[in-house]
Amino acid sequence: MANIDSEAVVTYEVRGSTAIVRLNRPEYRNAQNSEMTYALDAAFTAAVNDDAVKAIVLAGNGNHFSAGHDIGTPGRDVDQSFERKAVTWWDHVGAEGVDARFARESEVYLGMCRRWREIPKPMIAMVHGACIAGGLMLAWSCDFIVASEDAFFSDPVVRMGIPGVEYFAHPWVMNPRAAKELLFTGDRFSAQRAHDLGMVNHVVPGPELEGTVLAMAERISSMPRLGLALAKKAVNQSEDLQGMRAGMDSVFGLHHAAHAHNAEVGRDSLAGMGAQSMREAAAKQ
Ligand code: ZN
Repeated sequence: MANIDSEAVVTYEVRGSTAIVRLNRPEYRNAQNSEMTYALDAAFTAAVNDDAVKAIVLAGNGNHFSAGHDIGTPGRDVDQSFERKAVTWWDHVGAEGVDARFARESEVYLGMCRRWREIPKPMIAMVHGACIAGGLMLAWSCDFIVASEDAFFSDPVVRMGIPGVEYFAHPWVMNPRAAKELLFTGDRFSAQRAHDLGMVNHVVPGPELEGTVLAMAERISSMPRLGLALAKKAVNQSEDLQGMRAGMDSVFGLHHAAHAHNAEVGRDSLAGMGAQSMREAAAKQ
């Protein structure tokens, strides 16, 4: 079954026993607006509900996996409501200040990424090009990452005075000192460095990326469905027992203290930064 709507912000296709979900705003380096996170949620739901799908691959169309959350494209939709399927909080639209921000980010960022991490089928992130900030959240929500040699990663949001993205997996997907370096410098790190740190499972030449990932997905698909789901849960529960879930909850509070501080002393919750000014600040560093 192939179901590719090239106009959609997320495309969905089933090849063999693998569902391929692709971010599809290539003109904006797959910046994630809410329309996209809800479309991802719908695509993953379809993949879970389809018994013929045994594994899920998450990728990006165009030159990059994802440049992060949408902080400035014409399709930015932070003030819009969407139909919520799994309610974590009330709708943010019409609310103000922390009431609005906490509601929205609980839903479209932390809440969705957490639910996606719990999807009972194996998920592989297939990363090429930029995987920045909110892009890391998507890749980290998957069970593991396979990257092309050109892939690069960074979480530069400390530049906004914010201690990392909403899904704060940093100290669990790499060692805590590497997490500090990533956050303190905001620097890009290569696919090879990410591999050395244990964050990426395999690095392959760009032309081999899709073939490698789809072959892995098909190999995994021959394992029993319940065995895979329980193995996934076993590792996730172990991570949570190492403090991942509680750690993320506590850091989400720090994250929102930072947003609130920015809004209180400055122009907005992002310290007046947009995609352009973030790039300029990085270039000056
Ligand atoms: Zn935030």
